[in-house]
Amino acid sequence: MSNIKRILVVGAGVAGPAVCYWLQRFGFSPVLIENSPDIRKGGQALDIRGVAISMVKKMDIYEQICNLRTQVECGRYVDVEGKTLHEEQGESFGFRQGEEVEIVRGDLVEILMKSIKTVPCFFNQSIESIEQNDDGVVVHFRDGRAERYDLVIGADGIHSATRRAVFSEDEYKLVNLGSYISIFSIPNYLNLSHTEVLCEANQKLVSITSDEDSEIARAGFMFRSQHSLNNVRDKKEQMQFLRDTFHDFGWEVKRLLELMADSQDFYFDSITQVKMDTWTKGRVALLGDAGYCASPLSGQGNNLALIGAYILAGELKQQKDHHRAFKRYNALLRSFVETNQNFGAWVSESFLVPDEVSKEVAEERSSRIFKEIKIVSNAITLPDY
Ligand SMILES: Cc1cc2nc3c(=O)[nH]c(=O)nc-3n(C[C@H](O)[C@H](O)[C@H](O)COP(=O)(O)OP(=O)(O)OC[C@H]3O[C@@H](n4cnc5c(N)ncnc54)[C@H](O)[C@@H]3O)c2cc1C
Repeated sequence: MSNIKRILVVGAGVAGPAVCYWLQRFGFSPVLIENSPDIRKGGQALDIRGVAISMVKKMDIYEQICNLRTQVECGRYVDVEGKTLHEEQGESFGFRQGEEVEIVRGDLVEILMKSIKTVPCFFNQSIESIEQNDDGVVVHFRDGRAERYDLVIGADGIHSATRRAVFSEDEYKLVNLGSYISIFSIPNYLNLSHTEVLCEANQKLVSITSDEDSEIARAGFMFRSQHSLNNVRDKKEQMQFLRDTFHDFGWEVKRLLELMADSQDFYFDSITQVKMDTWTKGRVALLGDAGYCASPLSGQGNNLALIGAYILAGELKQQKDHHRAFKRYNALLRSFVETNQNFGAWVSESFLVPDEVSKEVAEERSSRIFKEIKIVSNAITLPDY
């Protein structure tokens, strides 16, 4: 066994709890911190697919995921007047047995957190700064405490504080793909039952989905815009930007924007990729969106996080020396990350096309996306640890 034992993991999204699971299973002592007061439940449904299916089976959480999978049986496409254009029912819209499982992000995070019940986890906590030398890493926390760890894993998402604390600005690039995403819960005032209604116009897509819980629906917005926000993390500015962008959209959007202010899980971000030549520095490693976000358009963020977590923990177990383990982590994951980031950028070009692009061209693009995603989600062979 190596002399690496205590590992701080920053961020309780998908990547953070997943790496804690493997670290604990491989004999390390992880400690998890999360910025928010509680698990952040926001977000749309995400697909677990390809190699990540075998990953969640290895973690013994596949059954739980299937039990909580989304049960949306009807996808209805409407125009801005609310007139139905077409509907897709059943299997073609939801779950493809054995190939992919769709689950709401918050439910996936809860399942992952339950799988690491004995890992110490501190909410409302963040890092202020990190000092490292050959012997360890001293982390200064927001509450004023300082603690020493053998390693730090930054799984704190696209705006990673770990990345900013350890890597200089010329060591990472944030590539904005020219669009935005927002998701928030609303009352299910349309009384939808296991249904998603989608309306696309002028390179904007709005959806309302209600699944198991008949009281609640999720409103989703995705849209192209060249506008840059002064502060992409300022909630007030984000909401105003949505109001300005969608004020004349039509359909149910006026009502959705009114309900937005009262939503408890408002999520907004630019659709951006994180590009880095290396995801490790000294005794610190980045994992998931923090190091290699492929963007929501890739549909692969959670899968990259799950697979990255397994390889990072597995190499630490196998190599017994963090220098060698980090080198292997970078090498084993590089091609999978690049394939998925290229896919995300390609989807971005063929997604939310202008209205003048014909329906046939748009349909052909969307069927190519479904074929390609099967390939990219399987573009790695998992080592056995
Ligand atoms: C609320 C939310 C909703 C999302 N919705 C979608 C969606 O609808 N579609 C989609 O494709 N992707 C969505 N994502 C991104 C998606 O979860 C990731 O692409 C993917 O699952 C990889 O996960 P991750 O763990 O690397 O990052 P994330 O899931 O973003 O998790 C990062 C975690 O780190 C925490 N954190 C951030 N800063 C700090 C800090 N300084 N200290 C401690 N903790 C910190 C965050 O609160 C979060 O819990 C969402 C992310 C969040 C946080």
